[in-house]
Amino acid sequence: MERRVYNFGAGPATLPLPVLKEAQRELLNFRASGMSVLELSHRSSWFSEIIETAQANLRTLLNVPEHYHILFLQGGASLQFSMLALNLLHSSSPPADYVVTGTWGNKALAEAQRQGQVNVAWDGKAEGYTRVPEQQELSLNADATYVHFTSNETIQGVQFQHAPLVGGVPLVCDLSSDFLSRPLEVERYALLYGGAQKNVGGAGVTIVIVRDDVLATMPEDTPSMLNYRLLAEKNSLYNTPPTFAIYVVMLVTGWLLEEVGGLERMDELNRQKAQVLYEAIDHSQGFYRGHAQGDSRSSMNVTWRLRDTALEAAFVQQAQARDLVQLKGHRSVGGIRASIYNAMPSEGVQALRDFMDEFAKQNG
Ligand code: PMP
Repeated sequence: MERRVYNFGAGPATLPLPVLKEAQRELLNFRASGMSVLELSHRSSWFSEIIETAQANLRTLLNVPEHYHILFLQGGASLQFSMLALNLLHSSSPPADYVVTGTWGNKALAEAQRQGQVNVAWDGKAEGYTRVPEQQELSLNADATYVHFTSNETIQGVQFQHAPLVGGVPLVCDLSSDFLSRPLEVERYALLYGGAQKNVGGAGVTIVIVRDDVLATMPEDTPSMLNYRLLAEKNSLYNTPPTFAIYVVMLVTGWLLEEVGGLERMDELNRQKAQVLYEAIDHSQGFYRGHAQGDSRSSMNVTWRLRDTALEAAFVQQAQARDLVQLKGHRSVGGIRASIYNAMPSEGVQALRDFMDEFAKQNG
């Protein structure tokens, strides 16, 4: 058995061990092809089966209706910030409403501003991005071109428990860091997207789920590689797609279906894991201070500071000595961040909790 640590990194992140083993097992010879997945043509029947299985798994897990396309694109969620605005927000369109709950929402907003008019429907900056808004705090326009929000802010660790209500306005969401962590009502969205490298696989592929009527609105002069309609027509095979990354998505979604038993179960497990860490914070008598407030606390990225911030470096270092790695918070928030995506086992979370209690006892 190779050495494995508990990796709390925000992404690329820990993957399910059975998935890694399966990829290893068939790395040299994929299903009697005599070739590695890395070597297969994206036009081969083997690869068709991979991409179709990955799509079918996603459809089953999320109950994606027939009138939505599932795309596998490149450029990360960062390219989606531009691409969705390029496709949906034209110079003559009414403003798009952006709900900004942290770093990534801000980046999405900045890219949309290059394409057209935007309205900031809410911005948590004054409160240090410690929570998501209540519905009544949103200043939404009934004729907005779309509403964009970030389901889970990976850096701040704040997460929506429910998507905002937007009436008939198309709803667009960045789900990069909580995609497939819980059930999702796909029908409420016009477009949703997320990089795979946290919950769904490795880096290199971005999953986009888009409603068919949205595909009708693309301007004719949209560059081919940025044109959702064209990419959907070609089933993500307009050019060479990231074949290996899509293969890993197939394995991870298969693991979710067969070993975890679906997204409701995954959600339950994720909530239990998060609860363990939030309890450690709340029971530390102020030694640890959670960044996010109440209901906005993320079940994917748990963020906190130490009362004595000078001890944070020692915390990270001593945790690392116990194989609890990548716990340093993002520089913009500081402190500690434990990313506990789907593949983080409860044993890893328990080991972190034990370390937190011990560290607080020794230094409190
Ligand atoms: N949105 C969110 C919520 C993210 O967490 C990230 C990556 N950390 C991004 C967007 C950017 O993703 P990428 O690096 O795939 O462009």
